[in-house]
Amino acid sequence: MKLELADYCIRCGICEDLYPDLFRRNYQEHCMDVLYDEIPEQLQDRARQAAADCAVAAIRIVD
Ligand code: SF4
Repeated sequence: MKLELADYCIRCGICEDLYPDLFRRNYQEHCMDVLYDEIPEQLQDRARQAAADCAVAAIRIVD
């Protein structure tokens, strides 16, 4: 499983607040980074929840 962030991410930071084990704000590039290329098995449920929690549906799950 991979996570991709859509261009229309509004950089609200909620994903980092709720899931700091998956996301981090990139201040230099003014975007959010996903901390893993491949999401570890033990974080995949949280990754799905993060995708559901993004208010603008900018987190996409790529299998
Ligand atoms: S919660 Fe969604 S809109 Fe907000 S920073 Fe994360 S991916 Fe972007």
